Amino acid sequence: MPFVVVITGIPGVGKSTITKLALKKTRAKFRLVNFGDLMFEEAVNMGGLVKHRDEMRKLDPLTQKELQLKVAQRIVEIARTEPVLLDTHATIRTPPAGYLLGFPREVIEILNPNFIVIIEAAPPSEILGRRLRDLKRDRDVETEEQIARHQDLNRAAAVAYAMHSNALIKIIENHEDKGLEEAVNELVKVLDLAVSEYA
Ligand code: AMP
Ligand code: MG
Repeated sequence: MPFVVVITGIPGVGKSTITKLALKKTRAKFRLVNFGDLMFEEAVNMGGLVKHRDEMRKLDPLTQKELQLKVAQRIVEIARTEPVLLDTHATIRTPPAGYLLGFPREVIEILNPNFIVIIEAAPPSEILGRRLRDLKRDRDVETEEQIARHQDLNRAAAVAYAMHSNALIKIIENHEDKGLEEAVNELVKVLDLAVSEYA
């Protein structure tokens, strides 16, 4: 049976760092897949729709959905042979229009993940500083309140995704003052469950 863990968290929450550390510790052999990377490949193939990954969220929603479907199909193919850890977003802020679902119904049905992990910052204010320090990216500037609201929305989105798949929802808090260790160990527990699936 394919085993897919979807890992989400708003930009700057520490998702990539926690993910990399958890992959070193788990007994399962996961393939780390970044949804944005595959989507960028598809967008470039589709007649050079974008030149930078941060332009994708500004494409019209139907085009983004077409790209999401292609990516989901590629991911289930990979998951037939090895467990997949999918680094992505529950919702994507697409100014000025609003939030786009990371997994519209057809997409989540194809992907059918085992877990939807949400990494949350506690407190949300910690995200602001990390975004400002990430000079490689064209990060959105948001207030603390907007960040908190985006995290609430992502929980709601996760429930909708669980409704259209067999996924369990796992919320992991990243407390910067306590260090990453606790968050990493929480994720490792989820990933270790894949060992028996491919035995
Ligand atoms: P990231 O590097 O994780 O910030 O992702 C880069 C970009 O990929 C995001 O800003 C989105 O435009 C796109 N992306 C990632 N995951 C998804 C998804 N599930 N649905 C739609 N777009 C996505
Ligand atoms: Mg990332």
